[in-house]
Amino acid sequence: MFSIEQTSLGRVVVSQRDPVFYTTRDISGRLDADAVAVIRNFIRGRFGIEASLSTCTQVHGAIVQKAERNGSWRECDSCDALWTADRGVALGIKVADCLPVTIVADEVIANVHSGWRGAVQKITAAAIDAVQHSAHFDPAAARAYLGPTIRACCFEVGEEVVDQFSARYEGMERYVDRSGSKPHVDVVALTVDLLRNRGFAEGSIVDSGLCTRCEGSIFHSYRRDGKGGGRNLAIVAQ
Ligand SMILES: [Zn+2]
Repeated sequence: MFSIEQTSLGRVVVSQRDPVFYTTRDISGRLDADAVAVIRNFIRGRFGIEASLSTCTQVHGAIVQKAERNGSWRECDSCDALWTADRGVALGIKVADCLPVTIVADEVIANVHSGWRGAVQKITAAAIDAVQHSAHFDPAAARAYLGPTIRACCFEVGEEVVDQFSARYEGMERYVDRSGSKPHVDVVALTVDLLRNRGFAEGSIVDSGLCTRCEGSIFHSYRRDGKGGGRNLAIVAQ
């Protein structure tokens, strides 16, 4: 489903089906012109797509914005999900433990920053709503990718976090592992069920299975590296 490739962008985990990939190079906060050029070159060389790049200033909210083709790179204002129906566009989401949810359909792509706060606010559902309202989009014919993220194995939380989920999700306990001293929440399983409920086909929900925090991870992890750590990019292009 995915291959790890050594590229000019450093080690990259690439989907073998769609132009979807995850970078491991240290890109914190705002990108710069150099990083944008390397990313656009990789997309051109690997997928044959001449794409501008859109990213956003992420705020752990649930606002979804439409991105359009631009000259080279545009960082959208505060939001946590991007979609587009334009060709020649790449959408980048910065993550370090938060779950990147990437949607690929015939005419649209979307990319979502769904950390636990975003998941509580149901940002993936908000992104699907935004695409469905504005473009021809059939989830049954689309694919969804769940990228590298902190998984239930490592995502130990306090009861106050579980409470916030429980306030928004029926039957939340099925996504909580209480076998240890503190609860572990499975944001991935919860997101997979949300995608199923929204009409994505079983075989079209592609889970990378990668945990950012686990021993041996090649990805940046906020829990492991702290505030000064790097960011992984989840990128999709069409
Ligand atoms: Zn783990």
